[in-house]
Amino acid sequence: MAKMIKGWSLFDTDRNNRYFYDKVKQRVQLCHPLLHFILKLYDKGIDPANWIAGFDSDPVEIDGLGRFPRDQIDYYYRKFRLLHENGYFADIDLEKRLSGRITPQLIEQTLANVTQVTFEVTDRCNLRCKYCGYGEFYDDYDKREGRDLPVESARRLLDHLLEYWNSPLNQSHQRNIFISFYGGEPLLNIGFIKEIVDYVTNLGLKYNPFTFNMTTNGLLVKKHMAFLVEHQFKILISLDGNEANNGYRITQDGSPAFPLIMENIEALREKYPDYFEQYVNFNSVLHNKNSIEDIYGFIKSRYGKLPTIGPLNNTGIRKDREDEFWATYRDFDSSLRASDKSSAIKKDMFVKLPNVTELAIFLFENNHFTFEDYNDFLFPKSEGTWIPTGTCIPFSKKVYVTTHGKILPCETSGHQFFLGQVTPAGVKLDCKAISDKYNNYFDKMKKLCTVCHKTDRCKQCIFQLDTIDDENPICTGIISSGNYAKNIGAIVSNFEKDPEIYNRLLKEVNFE
Ligand code: SF4
Ligand code: SF4
Repeated sequence: MAKMIKGWSLFDTDRNNRYFYDKVKQRVQLCHPLLHFILKLYDKGIDPANWIAGFDSDPVEIDGLGRFPRDQIDYYYRKFRLLHENGYFADIDLEKRLSGRITPQLIEQTLANVTQVTFEVTDRCNLRCKYCGYGEFYDDYDKREGRDLPVESARRLLDHLLEYWNSPLNQSHQRNIFISFYGGEPLLNIGFIKEIVDYVTNLGLKYNPFTFNMTTNGLLVKKHMAFLVEHQFKILISLDGNEANNGYRITQDGSPAFPLIMENIEALREKYPDYFEQYVNFNSVLHNKNSIEDIYGFIKSRYGKLPTIGPLNNTGIRKDREDEFWATYRDFDSSLRASDKSSAIKKDMFVKLPNVTELAIFLFENNHFTFEDYNDFLFPKSEGTWIPTGTCIPFSKKVYVTTHGKILPCETSGHQFFLGQVTPAGVKLDCKAISDKYNNYFDKMKKLCTVCHKTDRCKQCIFQLDTIDDENPICTGIISSGNYAKNIGAIVSNFEKDPEIYNRLLKEVNFE
């Protein structure tokens, strides 16, 4: 039997304005109180036509709203009918809607339009950060054994992708492709990086330019800065704030890494100020030795830059370290709320804040003039089916390859979820097997997603669910109709509270 779910929500904002949101039409609509009232009746299963037929006076007294002339009520009833006849306020057959699946052809097309290839250059690191994603808190990664990614493997993968990039499936001509180096500490394997830079430069990409980038702990930046500058690497240096804030960043002998990191940063800034200004950014981890205010204050005042701040990864945590993990963990919103300077920080960091990102995504998804890519333009989601969960189409964000040659959709998914592998015999990337793997997960998740109201706005990745390999996975993000409406209400309240956010998003964010 079809599983129907309400495709629209009524909500009020903090300023007591009434709205409806129709998830099929992707429309947020401010409502006159009468239309809102009619919709409430309809939501309760009362036919508004019967309600109107029962009036025996003019004007009509409506509980909690006041007196209204009949012709005004008729007007809003006609408005309701017009919208309803045009597909608004419909239920959604979630069983049918969530029948969207990944196909091998879609994966091939995505590979031809890949915009980032990230190499885990080495699993070696010259630091021992306590919270490292490959460190003591986690158990969902391949053992770190001092391994480097062989240059030959990287070349093989690039050759494989080149066939896709230069094929007619590539619809992203002129779009930049990022070639990214990740670790461990990538600069420990500078030989690999130099060879790949040379290889990519002569690869023969027909339609796309490319850019190099890197995430580094900074310790070897001074040593290799001439090379980084020559090839205009965009670099992201990990720095958690001032000396005390960097307390979890320690060298192999246990001494603080902060003075060494700073020495490298200062050397780069002094010798190549223009490059530093244009190409260097900072990435910080939030934990119990720092705060948003600390991180923002240090990096902004010292370098005039806005850091990207993220919490600790809370998936794949070792069972025996959970207490310690959560004692170390801090979440973004509470850290920001605790600051006296939160207003100024919010204003300055703007789109780097998670809640502003949420607003930007909402705006992106609910205006009808922006498209993620050509597929989105040609086959709008609202007219088709949805893929369960919020998992990205494999390789739509990037192709990530580990030192073991495992190919993953990104660096945050556990290594056990690898989708293919680069081996001495070649690249094993079986699009049919990958689509089967995803679709099996989606079939399992469908049981949960068909009773969840967040299906149209879900951001939950299957690879971030610790129970995804169980027969009946659990998703803690599942929400009811009422909570969904509250969630949309909170988003619209934010726009109402600060209309400047809307203007800034339109002016400053590239919804390409
Ligand atoms: S976390 Fe999941 S949804 Fe996000 S990029 Fe990785 S694979 Fe895609
Ligand atoms: S929040 Fe969980 S249950 Fe709801 S749609 Fe997303 S993955 Fe499915």
